[in-house]
Amino acid sequence: MKTKWKHRDKVLTAAAVVTCLSWGFTPHRELHAVAITALPSPVFGFYKAHQHELMVRAVDADKRKHGVKEEAARHYIDIDHYSDGISPCGWHEGCERYSEDTLRSRGILPWSIERVYNQLVVEMSNCGARDSSAASLSRVLRLSADLGHYIGDAHVPLHTTSNYNGQLTGQLGIHALWETHVYETSRPNWSGQKIEALYISDLRNWIWSRIMSSNANVEEVLRMEKAVRERVGAPDVWGYRTRGRTLSLIPTPGFCEEYNDSLDGMVEERFYMAAEGIASAWYSAWVDAGAPDLENDLIKPKKRNLMSELGHFLRARFPIQKERVGEDLYLH
Ligand SMILES: [Zn+2]
Repeated sequence: MKTKWKHRDKVLTAAAVVTCLSWGFTPHRELHAVAITALPSPVFGFYKAHQHELMVRAVDADKRKHGVKEEAARHYIDIDHYSDGISPCGWHEGCERYSEDTLRSRGILPWSIERVYNQLVVEMSNCGARDSSAASLSRVLRLSADLGHYIGDAHVPLHTTSNYNGQLTGQLGIHALWETHVYETSRPNWSGQKIEALYISDLRNWIWSRIMSSNANVEEVLRMEKAVRERVGAPDVWGYRTRGRTLSLIPTPGFCEEYNDSLDGMVEERFYMAAEGIASAWYSAWVDAGAPDLENDLIKPKKRNLMSELGHFLRARFPIQKERVGEDLYLH
């Protein structure tokens, strides 16, 4: 597709309201594809066989925001609204400390990740049951895609602050600048990073540590955008881009490149960190589910054998994560 540019001005303006407030669709999908490459062999075959569906469904959670009122709050948490700080806590504990309404008004991203993870563990542990079916396969894929989506969001600094689109600091549009336009312009130059899924032994603390590491970058994300914009001779911030018949007002490639250089590769670093996190969460859910044979039980259920029946029987009676799975399973 031929792309033409016409520059507009150097100032962030209200006209440049950007509606996409999440990693764009392309990065979310690519996160899932890269995560699959980091999986160990017992689960790699299953996820690789369903890569296309996982990539398509990677953005279902964002699409749901249009029809499900509660969905938007699942994608962020405003850490700065907890003036005394907030330490890792379960949903019920958080509700007791702050009230459910307060939690929901400030975003419930960490608890969304925990909830979907626990649901995925339960769904995977049902693999091999006589009644596991295409519906079961569909649920495992849907939950894996949602889990990957929320973990992806948790690695974006602006998903952890109330100033999520620079609206409080005169930097409207910075959300999509960071996670969509800088990604698009810098992606062809990434050298790639080797990542590997690791078992997460303490999911709750892991989620919160990733969110707090994102939040630690908020100040730099905002400061560098302002610094580049105010630099003498800086490229125009906004330009009209023509693709086919579509005219869009978006950040110029020149501005994205300078901003990316100033961030010293932060977008790339957090992208790979997110992909590694997604792979680790899928792998850990499978381990916590008792290591079911996903390929044989879900891809080829007709070939289910005595061993997989026995595996399901044992997992049903001796669930590994029963206590934790039970706690927060039916939130929201
Ligand atoms: Zn999202």
